[in-house]
Amino acid sequence: MKLNDCDLGIASEGSFGAHPNLIFATANEEFLILIDQKNELEIIARTISSSTNFNGQAINSEQELLNFTKKVKFPSHALILRPKKDENKNIVKGITNLKTLKSIFRELKEKNSSVYVETDMRAMYNPTRMEVIKEATHKLIEKINSRCHQCHAPGFGIVNTILGLACEYCGQATQSIQYYVYECQKCGFQQQQTNPNKTKEDPMYCDFCNP
Ligand SMILES: [Zn+2]
Ligand SMILES: [Zn+2]
Repeated sequence: MKLNDCDLGIASEGSFGAHPNLIFATANEEFLILIDQKNELEIIARTISSSTNFNGQAINSEQELLNFTKKVKFPSHALILRPKKDENKNIVKGITNLKTLKSIFRELKEKNSSVYVETDMRAMYNPTRMEVIKEATHKLIEKINSRCHQCHAPGFGIVNTILGLACEYCGQATQSIQYYVYECQKCGFQQQQTNPNKTKEDPMYCDFCNP
């Protein structure tokens, strides 16, 4: 932004790995930020999705390579080949056709004991990731359009949750969300809003009715 002398910027950052809540699932987490230096605003949106082709493995044969391509949406999604997982020499990225994939595999296999194949997670090579970024973008737009009820600055968003939604049967507090806490980054004004999805919790999730 400094280099281009602009005061309004947008940036994204993604990461991949084990899903924080789902066992044996991989996840793609995307952050988006809108920076408005003139109005001193930073509005952030985050999304986490289990929809990702993130994968990689060491392979020894062309058959293993072909089996891998079938699991990871190749060739609409690009692949990366290199001799070893952490080697950054002899790395070929952005491979999107089978002929090139096979010939690079053969070349690497000739000179190394094994080859490592993995999904190319750069957004321009990965339509599934593009979808997750799109989802984060919609959240960012929604947050930009949400204004502080006190100073009317955009970016009035959720910063915390308060648990204790009442059980439908016994009325005691459960571990489910009762309120969302919204905060303005500009003036610090806070407001609690009741959970818009439900006003009472199913006894199934109640520690007293269903311990
Ligand atoms: Zn405010
Ligand atoms: Zn109960």
